Amino acid sequence: MLRVSTDVQYGNACDISVNEFKNSAEVYFSASPSEGSQCLWFSFRITTDKKLKFIKLVLKHPYNMLMGSCNLSNILPVVKKDDGQWQRIEKTYQFHTFSDGRYEISWILNKPGRINDIALCYPYGTPEIEELLKDCRGFWKKDTIGVSTENRSIIRLSNDYSSPGSKKPGIYIVARQHSGETPGSWVLDGLMRYLADIKTRSIVVWAIPLSNIDGIEKGIYGKDFLPFDLNRSWGLKAYRHENLVIQRDIARWIERCIPLFGLDLHAPGGAEGDGIYFPFRKKGKITLVKKKENVWIELIGKTIGPEYMFSGFKKDYPLEGDLKNLTGLMLTSYFGYVLKIPGLCLEIPYGISKNRILTLDNYREIGKRIAIAILKGVKCKIQ
Ligand SMILES: [Zn+2]
Repeated sequence: MLRVSTDVQYGNACDISVNEFKNSAEVYFSASPSEGSQCLWFSFRITTDKKLKFIKLVLKHPYNMLMGSCNLSNILPVVKKDDGQWQRIEKTYQFHTFSDGRYEISWILNKPGRINDIALCYPYGTPEIEELLKDCRGFWKKDTIGVSTENRSIIRLSNDYSSPGSKKPGIYIVARQHSGETPGSWVLDGLMRYLADIKTRSIVVWAIPLSNIDGIEKGIYGKDFLPFDLNRSWGLKAYRHENLVIQRDIARWIERCIPLFGLDLHAPGGAEGDGIYFPFRKKGKITLVKKKENVWIELIGKTIGPEYMFSGFKKDYPLEGDLKNLTGLMLTSYFGYVLKIPGLCLEIPYGISKNRILTLDNYREIGKRIAIAILKGVKCKIQ
């Protein structure tokens, strides 16, 4: 008997059905939009008491998901069999069409275990943060700076509290505003591990690794969350309590360093596979902040390298929010327009990018290269 359950950490799936055969099975599922207009994240468990040759995993309604403009074959979920590690599923992508224009996509899970956890991408949450802290042996301090809408702790990691009036350069990083975008977290993980390895405290680095903690714990994708997602809620009047908590922490950080930039880590549409990029408003007034953003984008893009980066590094993205009253802003606009500090956003793909299957090592390497770029920039006195 085969069972499918979403009662797992970050669980998300719906519209589930199962067909069982002698040596194989089919599991049909859809990503649940839970509380948002967009859906993408999925995570569920298949248990079976029979030794099966394979299970066909069929993703329903991909045309209703936030996929971006690239090929759906760039999606490559991850699987964890029994006590094994998370790994990418084999590249067995298939596209199935219906005569009314709808379609489904599928992958084959060969030699399934008794317990098989499936997710869109490598999960990342509180247990991974604890592992990071343990591996970095006290280099990163963990503090609770406030609570979420549903009373969960919002944690901030820092390498140095510094002190008011300090002239040390500083970086403020936020990940998981859209809670399903785990590639951003793995990149941050790599960045933090590298800074701990070289034990640098010459830069004041503060990071919110799990900003939309309610969404993360509940398995919600969190993009276009209703009424406002976290990344449409920054400004002089914060629309959500999480934004207020983090804005007040950013204010503490500003007092204690010379801010270089704020960095916001995301993942793009589920099928976007033409490399990492910075969403950036190319048109508009060239301000000093915008010039500085450009300098950092060039340096970080070049340091990450062409094997991972989208050519040109930037994709044009319209500004959102009320720029007159400075409300309903994205985090980069909050940095740029309210705080007059460069604000960078980085989109890191989920599955296959530039024909490379992205692994945990790749994500961490990208994070390491961002850290190297920041150190280079400090050395060259980019401020
Ligand atoms: Zn995002």
